Amino acid sequence: MKQKLELDFRSDTVTKPCLRMRDAMAKAEVGDDYYHDDPTVQELECFAADLFGKEAALLTPSGTQSNLIAVMSHCQRGEAYIVGHLSHSYLRELGGAAMIAGVQPQVVQNQGDGTLKLEDIKASLFPASILFAPVRLIAVENTIDGKVLPLDYLRSVLQLAAEHDLRIHMDGARIFNAAATLGCLVSKIASYCDTLSFCLSKGLGAPIGSVLVGSAEVIEKARRHRQMLGGGMRQAGIIAAAGLYAMQNNVSRLKSDHARAAELAAALSRVPGLTVEAPQTNMLFCDVDASVQSKFSGFLKETGIRISGNSKRQRWVTHLGIDDTALASTVKLLAQMQDVCDAS
Ligand SMILES: *Cc1c(COP(=O)(O)O)cnc(C)c1O
Repeated sequence: MKQKLELDFRSDTVTKPCLRMRDAMAKAEVGDDYYHDDPTVQELECFAADLFGKEAALLTPSGTQSNLIAVMSHCQRGEAYIVGHLSHSYLRELGGAAMIAGVQPQVVQNQGDGTLKLEDIKASLFPASILFAPVRLIAVENTIDGKVLPLDYLRSVLQLAAEHDLRIHMDGARIFNAAATLGCLVSKIASYCDTLSFCLSKGLGAPIGSVLVGSAEVIEKARRHRQMLGGGMRQAGIIAAAGLYAMQNNVSRLKSDHARAAELAAALSRVPGLTVEAPQTNMLFCDVDASVQSKFSGFLKETGIRISGNSKRQRWVTHLGIDDTALASTVKLLAQMQDVCDAS
């Protein structure tokens, strides 16, 4: 049966596990992970720890939980963590750090390139006083809205953190995309933080799961927090097998997602009324002039192209569900849209 071509650019979370990944899941050796009995979970955690150059790793159900666990593992209740105002862990995790962990977010503005200014971080550190919540942690996000944090920037954050006895957590949901753009190993990026969380369920194409990496000591704490949050799992090898498959097979292909995002950006920028930011990874943002907003919304509806954002500011994400055929047909549809706009 021939399926209709899916042109779904909403997110790299919409990918579905391929047959070989499902096969790996079906054949996974499993056991009760509460008893450390699941060999596939252990294999995934060892593999991830090695890959990131850290002592240990922990499989979690989601990136949201992984970030919360990291905050809980670095900070006590009544302490504070520095976080960017656009970061996922501040903006899109329902305030879990404050609500569940009792850790106050100390919010710093993200710059246009996604970084937090070192001066702003310094300014947000309270003096030691009976009045202030002690700041313990800096949280950075990489990639952030598809943008990659430069390595020399991360080095300077690490230096600042060392001067003030702060830990660093990196929300690296899309860290493999960052590494692909930088042309470096993920362990290089991870060397600038104490803990790093990455998603198996985004560009890597697994159906579920995130991994938190760090020192053996912090991951041991994290394991207890995961349990408390209800993230302990039994025969989780089924999930781990998908994650292992993803890390072993779906990393090198990310470069082609980036190339397709660049091609898509070029096609979009030829449509009058659209202003496209050149993508650094697999995600691009596009501002739509008021004069073409309703026309473009109609176009998307008619063609079945799905994106996220709103009629003024769109987000397009490429992923393993968008192959050359899907991209070519999208580019062709956009060229038709270009003609319609040119004619009016
Ligand atoms: C998706 C995402 C998360 C959360 O991951 P879930 O698995 O959806 O909970 C955290 N941070 C960033 C940057 C993300 O993109």
